[in-house]
Amino acid sequence: MQAITNQYDYIIVGQGLAGSCLALHLNRMGKTTFVVDTPRENRASAVAAGLFNPVTGKRNVKSWEADQLFPYLFKFYSEAETFLNQRFFYPQPVYRPFISIADQNEWMGRSEDPSLKSLIRKVFTSSVYGDQTFDEFGGVEISQAGYLDTNAFMRAVREFLKSRNSFEEAAFDYAAMTVSQESIRYKNVTASHIAFCEGSKSKNNPWFDWVPITPLKGETLTISFHTPPKVIFNRSAYIVPTGRDNVFMVGATYKPGDNTGGTSAEAKAELEEKVNGLVRLPYKIHDQNWGIRPSTHDRRPVLGAHPQYKNMVMLNGLGTKGVSLAPYFSGMLVDWLLGQSEIPREANIERYKSLYSKFSKT
Ligand SMILES: Cc1cc2nc3c(=O)[nH]c(=O)nc-3n(C[C@H](O)[C@H](O)[C@H](O)COP(=O)(O)OP(=O)(O)OC[C@H]3O[C@@H](n4cnc5c(N)ncnc54)[C@H](O)[C@@H]3O)c2cc1C
Repeated sequence: MQAITNQYDYIIVGQGLAGSCLALHLNRMGKTTFVVDTPRENRASAVAAGLFNPVTGKRNVKSWEADQLFPYLFKFYSEAETFLNQRFFYPQPVYRPFISIADQNEWMGRSEDPSLKSLIRKVFTSSVYGDQTFDEFGGVEISQAGYLDTNAFMRAVREFLKSRNSFEEAAFDYAAMTVSQESIRYKNVTASHIAFCEGSKSKNNPWFDWVPITPLKGETLTISFHTPPKVIFNRSAYIVPTGRDNVFMVGATYKPGDNTGGTSAEAKAELEEKVNGLVRLPYKIHDQNWGIRPSTHDRRPVLGAHPQYKNMVMLNGLGTKGVSLAPYFSGMLVDWLLGQSEIPREANIERYKSLYSKFSKT
């Protein structure tokens, strides 16, 4: 450890999307942070395609809290690009081809719905990208969408933290931590607070192992095209650009409860079938990847303090939507820590409080 000072405001464990966004919020408010992270290759944030899209799910509805989350994430990542002097945020519309006249009619109706109007850029009733996709019935362009190059974002945050001597690449050693209501001591570092942002690994944390973060395994394909897609195509699967020239990510599979590592032939076949049903363009598969999303039974994030220590907090449960949830909920956690806002019940760790007494080992 090369810390110049060993006194910090916050220790943060985990530097995926959750820890990165939290560290940025705190640093931009003038708070000092010391971040401990083991950047495993298959952590969810490094595997994610980075897509953000306010209209999601099988029924294509406005995603939860989209009216708050999406304007917030646009501001947050744009300001982060300026602050970190790096590029990683790529807003662009997502195009969803219609599969039938009925599908087209449904979206025509939806485009009149006041709650969805601002998210629908344009409904096309005839083919627009017919040379690339199967859109003989037209399609819909969703606005407030795009992708975050998650690896470039996390790299930029890490470089920033390293430049302040406040990053340690290591597994956090729980046995080396002592806690009191006033302060946290970890090895030779002291801080007033500690925040755990450990994703699916939070089960290993003896202070928060009672919070039911459930694994949701996902796999992706990395592909390239002779002629690249003109837009992000999204229907059943998505094809999203990456930071690399003519390299795209196809995703993702959903396997609830699966905590096993490694890729599978089954997921590859599923994704190939979906790409073949989405684009006409010939492509080459280069790689297959996997990761475990940190999910919850009610698909809502979890934030707040440990029942015994108000200075020990967690931010987790970002599930399938880390890119859009992390900026807003890390900001909410900071505001709550500063006594400036409440955490709503549906995202509050308090909803699991009854499990604390049942399962806690601490
Ligand atoms: C295949 C796949 C595709 C996805 N695609 C998208 C997408 O397109 N858009 C989207 O919004 N979301 C997507 N997601 C979901 C998104 O990746 C997650 O919601 C998000 O990354 C969770 O971030 P996190 O920081 O909570 O967890 P993680 O990314 O798991 O980060 C936790 C970090 O903490 C570290 N850590 C844990 N324990 C310790 C410890 N004891 N000591 C030190 N370090 C520790 C880990 O090594 C890791 O670096 C996808 C996920 C998968 C798996």
